Amino acid sequence: MKIDILTIFPDFFRGPLDYGIVRRARETGLVEISIHDLRAFTKDKHRTVDDRPFGGGEGMVLKPEPIFECLESFGDVASRELRLSAGAKQSVILLSAQGRRLDQTLAADLSALDRIVLICGRYEGVDERISEHLADRELSIGDYVLSGGELGAVVIVDTVTRLIPGAVGNRASTRQESFTETRTESFTVGAELADDGPSSTCVSGGLLDYPHYTRPADFRGMAVPEVLVNGNHDQIRSWRRKTALAKTLRNRPDLLERVALTAEDKELLAQIKLDEVKLAHGTLTETGQARSLQKTKGKS
Ligand code: SAH
Repeated sequence: MKIDILTIFPDFFRGPLDYGIVRRARETGLVEISIHDLRAFTKDKHRTVDDRPFGGGEGMVLKPEPIFECLESFGDVASRELRLSAGAKQSVILLSAQGRRLDQTLAADLSALDRIVLICGRYEGVDERISEHLADRELSIGDYVLSGGELGAVVIVDTVTRLIPGAVGNRASTRQESFTETRTESFTVGAELADDGPSSTCVSGGLLDYPHYTRPADFRGMAVPEVLVNGNHDQIRSWRRKTALAKTLRNRPDLLERVALTAEDKELLAQIKLDEVKLAHGTLTETGQARSLQKTKGKS
C-alpha cells in the first residue's frame, strides 16, 4: 500500500512512523509512506499556505491551491469520481473533526486499498473546496478537536497498517482484538479457531479485548487469575469471554447493543450482573473474578 501525507509540518512525522509494526511494514515494503510539504507547492516568496476566512471570523484557513497542486503532482491518483465508485482501490482523505468517525471496521476497509492520501488541516481548518472537489471522504479520529490533522494521520496509518496481511506476525492476534467483528459464528465459548493456538482463543466479536497478564504470577501480592495458570483451555476461553463481556459492560455498554450475543454470552452476562450484586452486598471482593477464583481454590 502506498500512503501519501500532505502537511505543512513534515518534520512532525519524524518518529511516530519509525517504530514497531509500522516501521517493519515500511522496511519490508508492505507500506510505502511519503510525506509532502505543502509549502513546496506555494509560489510566493513567503511560501504562504493559509489566508483569512471569507466572511470574517477567527483564525486562518489552509488555502486550496497548494493542496490541489501537491495531489496533482503525483500524476497517478484516480479521479474523484473513480475513487467514489464501488470497488475503488484509492482514497483521498481529509482529516477533519467534522468527518465520519474512524472505527475498526472502517480501518479494515481502508487496509484493503492500494493507495491512501491523507490531507492534514491546521488552524481553523481547510478551504471547503478540498472536501467538496478533491477529497473523497472526511475522517475524524474522535469527538474532540485537535490542533492539526497530523496526529489523526498517524492514527490512521498505524491502525490501517497493522491490518494489512503480513504486517502483524500472528494474524490471529489482529482478529481477536477489541472491536473486531469477524466470524461471529465461532464466538461460542469453547469454540476454537482452526489456525489458532489453544492459549489465544476467543475472538472479541465486537466486544473489548479480554485482560492479559504475563509473568510474574504474583507481583507484590497481586496474583494472576488462577484460571489462567491451571492450563484448562475451556475454562480459560470461558473466563476470557466473561471478562471481555464484563469490561465491555463496564466501559462501553453501547457495544453490547450492537453485537450478536450467543446463549453462552447471555448466561455469562447474567453471572456478571449477579457478581455485581454480590459485590454490592459485600459477599464478593473488589477485584471480583480474580479474587473469587482464588478464594474458591483456597477453600478446595
Ligand atoms: N474549526 C474546526 C477545527 C479545526 S482544527 C472545527 O471546529 O471542526 C485544525 C485541523 O485539525 C482540522 O482541519 C483537521 O485537519 C484537524 N483535526 C482537528 N480535530 C480532528 C479530529 N477529531 N479528527 C481528525 N482531524 C482533526
